[in-house]
Amino acid sequence: MRNSLDRIKPEVRALRAYALSPHRARVKINQNENPRDAPARIKEETQRRLGAREWSRYPDFTPLSLCEQLAGFAGWMPEGIIAGNGSNELIQALLMVTVGLGKRVLISEPTFALYRQISTVLGGEVISVPLTPWLSYDIEALQAAARDSKPDVMIICSPNNPTGCVLSDDDLCRLLETNDGLVVIDEAYHEFAEHSVVPWLREHKNLVVLRTFSKAMSMAALRVGYLLAAPELTREIGKAVLPYNLNTISQTAAEVAIDLYQEELRPQVQKIIDERERLYVELSKVKGLAPLRSQGNFMVVRTKADPKRVFAELLKQDILIRDVSTYPMLREYFRVSVGTPEENDLLIQALRSIVEPSSQVLEG
Ligand code: PMP
Repeated sequence: MRNSLDRIKPEVRALRAYALSPHRARVKINQNENPRDAPARIKEETQRRLGAREWSRYPDFTPLSLCEQLAGFAGWMPEGIIAGNGSNELIQALLMVTVGLGKRVLISEPTFALYRQISTVLGGEVISVPLTPWLSYDIEALQAAARDSKPDVMIICSPNNPTGCVLSDDDLCRLLETNDGLVVIDEAYHEFAEHSVVPWLREHKNLVVLRTFSKAMSMAALRVGYLLAAPELTREIGKAVLPYNLNTISQTAAEVAIDLYQEELRPQVQKIIDERERLYVELSKVKGLAPLRSQGNFMVVRTKADPKRVFAELLKQDILIRDVSTYPMLREYFRVSVGTPEENDLLIQALRSIVEPSSQVLEG
């Protein structure tokens, strides 16, 4: 009898699963989440609106009222927006309608692991351009790869998870112009960079933008993301999205979050941006550490110590970070999300106790 695993595509079997260690800790800075919960006003108003809603009825077939609100919020047309069960679902839908055997997806690594994962599962060929040695986008190399391989889809994460680098408007323009394929910009962290490429949608029919409510909007538990593109594109991508993909609770909470964004959420984003700058300065002062400037709500930090040891020692002190040392180019790095000022103080203090003694041994 044949092994049942023989039925699995070889390229899938060769993939390492995209997984996350199941640890828990008091200071949880491993997933680029917002360190502050959704404000009480948002939760209360969501509950109030939900109180009147019958649970026996399906949610909207497609969440039209949310798409209309998103259009006003993001500055795009409702017909060009798909809301999803997290932006992960929309990355999958987009790749399902574009990638198969013989199709090419161009990415720049290290980046968010799901692009490679789903493209490979779907049978596509992933072409990867390394970041520069300074961990920024290598625009010449990306353009050259785009010219040579003519990818069907190019995906750029900006700010990039995990390095925090961004693609400038000029560079995006160059990529859009050298490329006939789709150019996807994942803006999961755009609020922390205070920059968006949404205005470019008007001129570029091959541009797709992805966004999420899981980071700045403090709603990772409720799974809401959205995709913006020309309506003729969203019509096609929508064919791979399941009906009723967004449940009523999440849709309602997202609508309330948009209503109250300026008053309740935007000030929290500013606090994270300010803390990111302080964390960078403080980590730069720790002997044996070199943080990398980031435009996201996270940063990678180069360490003279073994990153796996740093991870384990921090966990002993109830601090959970992300070990990114198996990512390409990041053998000597770990990643932290920007926490509250108190959480960041605990991190800085703990890192001093872990890294400084060993860096003195190394230097001595
Ligand atoms: N894109 C990037 C770059 C991310 O880092 C993440 C989450 N880690 C996602 C998309 C997925 O977000 P969501 O929670 O909306 O599925």
